Amino acid sequence: MASRALVIGVGTYDHDSGIEGYPTIEASARAYGAALARDPRWGAAARSRVLEPDETRTSDGVMRALQEAAAAGEGPEDTLLVVYVGHGAYWQDVPGGQVHFAVGSSRSNEPWTWLSAWYVYRAIRKSKAGLKVLITDCCYSNMLPHLGADSALPGALGTRSEGTCVLTAVSGSVHNASADACQNLQPPLDTCTPFSGHLLNVLEQGMPDHAGDLTLGALRAGVDEGMQACGVHHPPRMLLNDASEAAPLFTNHAKGRRPRARALDTVEDWVRELLLNGERSLPALMRRPDLAGRVVVRLRTGDEQHRDLARRVDQRAGELLTNPADFVRYWGEIEPALLGGG
Ligand SMILES: [Zn+2]
Repeated sequence: MASRALVIGVGTYDHDSGIEGYPTIEASARAYGAALARDPRWGAAARSRVLEPDETRTSDGVMRALQEAAAAGEGPEDTLLVVYVGHGAYWQDVPGGQVHFAVGSSRSNEPWTWLSAWYVYRAIRKSKAGLKVLITDCCYSNMLPHLGADSALPGALGTRSEGTCVLTAVSGSVHNASADACQNLQPPLDTCTPFSGHLLNVLEQGMPDHAGDLTLGALRAGVDEGMQACGVHHPPRMLLNDASEAAPLFTNHAKGRRPRARALDTVEDWVRELLLNGERSLPALMRRPDLAGRVVVRLRTGDEQHRDLARRVDQRAGELLTNPADFVRYWGEIEPALLGGG
């Protein structure tokens, strides 16, 4: 195994930089480091590390560390995880419009002093690791280029089969990620930024009703549910470059502690199952074609990730529903919703 995790937290800037520093950023970076250290999946400190201030001071320092971590990946078994917590900016008057990440020596309104997301993507893309994940907790992370089929910039992290994922603190047209700590979290996570605090809370608490380790889908669902329960945050977003909701990333410390009492029976059950585990259990869902149709209808009314799942389920339905009568039952649920504009 040659998995690597790199945590980049930039919370301190020069006094005359025009950029506001936040202690929550560095607290978040330290908490990621602690969470990775106690996770048997990541374990030994050599495999995960939090960059030191002298490294996060310049783009060169960050990129050297990133290149080294990316080069460690040897094959499909390996994971490259990169976490960035700090300030993000977006300039439309540079080619293509780009998200830039702040480093310690960045200055407000001087794009050349920031680290372009494209250099980060480029280094990640070169890694041979089977799973490559970028977690970004910063403003304008919603503007990180779309990945996947509908992308204006396809394959930003790799091709569709390369197992890449970007998880961002903000979504849709919301540009600003809050850096003010969430008081509803337990110490020390109440000193972190809200997105990282909630994500780290999922790592610490685990998901008792989830039987396996924390997959990308489970992590995203856990963060989303936690932030929604708080009622004060913008929803996070996950951009998937392939169908890797089922890819495990962290240990679930509460694995199966609250076993599911009943079979998946309702539209809600199945929407959550698909969000957590992707298409893995689709054959079971397709044994109930009418329920499958209602699940697709529901997914279509959700956010970007729900709609993407709806498309993927719909694609697979054609192969899995080999009996025409079953397909008619499936389609019978979807067609009225389409006609009704739903
Ligand atoms: Zn909260």
